Amino acid sequence: MQQRPLGRSGLNVSKLCLGTMTWGEQNSEAEAHRQLDMAVAYGINFIDTAEMYPVPPKAETQGLTETYLGSWLAARGKRDDLIIASKVAGPGNGLTYLRDGPELTAAHVHQALDESLQRLQTDYLDLYQIHWPSRSTNFFGRLGYVHQEEESTPLEETLGALQEEIQKGRIRHYGLSNETPWGTMKVLALAEKMGLPAPVSIQNPYNLLNRTYEVGMAEVSHRENCGLLAYSPLAFGVLTGKYLHGQRPEHGRITLYSRFTRYTSDLAEKAAAQYVALAKDSGMTPAQLALAFVTQQAFVTSNIIGATTEEQLEENLKSSEVVLSEEILAEIEAIHKRIPNPCP
Ligand code: NAP
Repeated sequence: MQQRPLGRSGLNVSKLCLGTMTWGEQNSEAEAHRQLDMAVAYGINFIDTAEMYPVPPKAETQGLTETYLGSWLAARGKRDDLIIASKVAGPGNGLTYLRDGPELTAAHVHQALDESLQRLQTDYLDLYQIHWPSRSTNFFGRLGYVHQEEESTPLEETLGALQEEIQKGRIRHYGLSNETPWGTMKVLALAEKMGLPAPVSIQNPYNLLNRTYEVGMAEVSHRENCGLLAYSPLAFGVLTGKYLHGQRPEHGRITLYSRFTRYTSDLAEKAAAQYVALAKDSGMTPAQLALAFVTQQAFVTSNIIGATTEEQLEENLKSSEVVLSEEILAEIEAIHKRIPNPCP
């Protein structure tokens, strides 16, 4: 599988990254290990996890995803062949059971990393990401902008803690997630001032139903050499077509967890139906069209795929061989113009 440079890190990552957030909730440890074996055999060298996972987050399961990845790393060895990314949680989101509510203070960052490294049975992370910002802004689908001058951990403090961890060798590089253009540019400026290397990646949502990254963020990715690690490339599975016409497949994420409503509006269904039809007319599966579209974007470093079955994973891995033609891309643009970003 093609590899691409991870920002200015000097590391190369596979253009597909294995997402993990179903492990410990929809997937067992044995299933997680089989996914890892399959993905690595297919050429993936990049795995993304988080201290908060699995999703939906719960006190009883928190950390299981990293634990499962850790037991696989310990059993299989070859740690240095892989690029392992994890994340420190920001404040809010009901995670009161995690350090009495996570903050991005230096103390929290150091403790979160200690615990992630233990669960992962490794002494370093290749990429450590700030899962979401401390300040109140537009992420996780929040529309509109209401400015709030609230107390939040100063970015300098969080970056200082990351700088210390880089110096100790416990993290090699850091990245951002759920960030805005302002936040990314601010981190870049502060990093330069502090003599800290620049962030190497931005992990934000990007899929056919939500291309808002293209406005504002894509330019930052290109000009600052800080590419997108695209999450939810199938819009939680909606872009496979399996939820069309009110279908609710028994084991599907959206069937199981009704609180996940971001990708289930009438407009989302209308757009998804058109992308599904285009895929079928073009002789590919809807998942492969949707995934290839994301992977093919010039501002994307790696596309973070997720799967709950081996069949899904195989289909998603095979999307790495699909190249969308100019004609198909033009059809996609026509649908996007008719129904732009139904799930921002
Ligand atoms: P996604 O591609 O939008 O959804 C993946 C889900 O769709 C699978 O778990 C599966 O769920 C279904 N699916 C996948 N392939 C399929 C196929 N071929 N046919 C039918 N259904 C299929 O991605 P995601 O899971 O939301 O996100 C991927 C990764 O990105 C996560 O694991 C995590 O590492 C990362 N992420 C990060 C953030 C962040 O805030 N930074 C947020 C979200 C995700 P069912 O089997 O349940 O239907």
